Amino acid sequence: EAPVLAIDGPGGAGKGTISRLVAARLGWHLLDSGALYRLTALAAVKHELPLDDEPALARVAADLDVVFVADNTTTRVLLEGEDATTAIRTEQVGDAASRVAALPAVRQALLQRQRDFRQAPGLVADGRDMGTVVFTDASLKIFLTASAEERARRRHLQLREAGVDASLSSLLKEIQARDARDMQRSVAPLKPAIDAIMLDTTRLTIPEVVDQLTELLTE
Ligand code: C5P
Repeated sequence: EAPVLAIDGPGGAGKGTISRLVAARLGWHLLDSGALYRLTALAAVKHELPLDDEPALARVAADLDVVFVADNTTTRVLLEGEDATTAIRTEQVGDAASRVAALPAVRQALLQRQRDFRQAPGLVADGRDMGTVVFTDASLKIFLTASAEERARRRHLQLREAGVDASLSSLLKEIQARDARDMQRSVAPLKPAIDAIMLDTTRLTIPEVVDQLTELLTE
C-alpha cells in the first residue's frame, strides 16, 4: 500500500498549510479530513437538519456529494455541484463541524472515504485522528502543536488577509472551546498517537517545518 504521512494536531497549528506544501514537494496526494467534517456540517445546515440528529447526519456524511478540484496552489471544493471552498472556512462552520465530528456514526460514515485517498505514490493526511484511527500504519506520524495564543494570532492574520476583522480575544476563546471539545469527546479524541513525533511550531516558520518533515520522512 502507498505510504502515508499522518499530520494531526489542534486547529490553527499550521497543519493545512504544512500538509499542502509537503504534499506538493513530495508529489503526494493530500487529504484534508477536516474539510469532510466541515462539508458534512454545511450540508446539514443546508438541509436544515439539527446538528445532534446522529442517524440523519451519518446519512448526510455517507451520501456527501463532494468533488475536490485541485488548482496549482489551492483545492476548490464542490458540494452538491456548488463551490463551497470559502463557505466551509467560516468559524461557524468550523464550530458546527466539531459538533458533528463528536458523533460516532458520522466518523464511521467518513472512514472509508478518507482511506480511499491513499493512492500511489503516497498520501499526506491532515486531521485529528489520522495517526490514531484512520491510518494507524502510517509511515510517519506527526503531532503539530503551537500555543493557543500563537494559533489565535495566526488565524487573526489569515482572516485579515481574507478581509475579515475578528477580535483576537474572541478567536482565542473559540480556539480554546474547540480544543476542549476535540480533546474531551469520547470517540477519536484529539491526542497524539503513541508513536507520533511531537513538533511545536510556535517559534518555527512554515519553511522550517516543511524542511523538518521532509527530512524526517526520508530518514
Ligand atoms: O481542521 P479543521 O478545523 O478543518 O476541522 C474542523 C473540525 O473537524 C475540528 O474541530 C474537529 O472537530 C473535526 N475533525 C475531526 N477529525 C479530523 C479532522 C477534523 O474530528 N480528522
